[in-house]
Amino acid sequence: TTSTSDTVSPVAPNSAEARDIAYHLHAYTNARKHEEIGPLVIDRGEGIHVFDHAGNRYIEAMAGLWSVAVGFGDKRLAAAAARQFEKLPYYHDFTHKSHGPVIDLAEKLVSMAPVPMSKAFFTNSGSEANDTVLKMIWYRSNALGQPERKKVIARERAYHGVTIASASLTGLPNNHKSFDLPLAGILRTGSPHFWRDALPGETEEAFATRRADELEQLILAEGPETVAAFFAEPVMGAGGVIVPPATYWDKIQAVLRKYDILFVADEVICGFGRTGRMFGTETFNLKPDVMVVSKALSSSYLPISAIIANERFVAPIMDQSNTIGTFGHGFTAGGHPVAAAVALENVRIIEEEGLVANAVASGRRLLEGLHALAGHPLVGEVRGVGLIAAVELVTDKAAKKALEPAGTLGGLVNAGLQANGVISRAMGDAIAFCPPLIITESEVDDLLSRFALTLDTVAKQI
Ligand code: PMP
Repeated sequence: TTSTSDTVSPVAPNSAEARDIAYHLHAYTNARKHEEIGPLVIDRGEGIHVFDHAGNRYIEAMAGLWSVAVGFGDKRLAAAAARQFEKLPYYHDFTHKSHGPVIDLAEKLVSMAPVPMSKAFFTNSGSEANDTVLKMIWYRSNALGQPERKKVIARERAYHGVTIASASLTGLPNNHKSFDLPLAGILRTGSPHFWRDALPGETEEAFATRRADELEQLILAEGPETVAAFFAEPVMGAGGVIVPPATYWDKIQAVLRKYDILFVADEVICGFGRTGRMFGTETFNLKPDVMVVSKALSSSYLPISAIIANERFVAPIMDQSNTIGTFGHGFTAGGHPVAAAVALENVRIIEEEGLVANAVASGRRLLEGLHALAGHPLVGEVRGVGLIAAVELVTDKAAKKALEPAGTLGGLVNAGLQANGVISRAMGDAIAFCPPLIITESEVDDLLSRFALTLDTVAKQI
């Protein structure tokens, strides 16, 4: 049996690996392949590192799933959780009930939002939050007496989650194929992937104009009065760390304004410092009506997500709940007091420890180091902003092509990185880097040298 790091290691009977294979159906995993290769079992974490149960240390270059902003093993978060657990381990916000942590967090999120916002609503995951936003949009259109205004637009390569509605918003084939998705009424427009999708000779500005024109044509073809909202990540994450080209956001937002279409910024990855400002909304000068946050909100120490919405968005919803008698939506664990207390402490840590400034400095180092590898035969493109980056791997630079089938080269480099003590993520043939915001410049150098070594090894192998 081979492990993901390509070393031959038989799975011992009754080992954690064997029991994982026997009993655990994994998320985002080839389940049959898993029976052969088994899991990498992570045992503990400290700072930017995690350790497997054999004691091997890895740089967690993805911060888990783009989320552990403050790093692993933060004592303040453990203490905040313990305090709240003892005081009030559970309560909810249905039927006019509330509790301290959810009030504090709602106030904090609304007041720190970079555009005028009015209210925060709490959910448990990015998927639930985006599902909830879509339901709110439908509810709101009904409240406004515009029942025909229900369509929403999302982009190719978008990632908004995996529940039925949020998976429909997601624009990646694996989230639709064999699931009978997407739902009707969710429209698709092009992604801002300049390196991949630009026409020969097209400038960033011309490409951005073309994408905005496509969006406008889609709206006109569908009927502007039927289109309610546009969902987008400021920087696309799971779709390949796609940083929009110059002028893209200005042009897209002009189209949305022209047809009075709501803008939902999915800040699930970008929020809380990732792009070098507190929110992607600031980095790209966005004017969203709704911001969706999760992941770095609590550093994923506990599940929590929030919808932060402006007055124009929430006022009709509040009125409609008054007409109907209640807002018939909410989750048992939405705004969970322990998760909310941890989130609040986590946001304070990000502010007090200057983690956004650290992300800027370490991110600059990371991008400089990755750009220095641009001459490597396997490197097609380096892209990133703040402390999020991706390297697009190729075997033919001119044709922008990698090994067949797609994803092979990405898989090899990702496995090579793991063997060299780095957990990263391959998205097709792009390798993503999204380390904890606490990473130091010398830790970035360590990551870069392991990546360079891996590229050389894989280049020799193939
Ligand atoms: N939106 C974005 C931008 C995401 O990156 C993700 C998760 N990767 C989600 C939504 C979905 O979040 P969750 O996995 O918590 O449902």
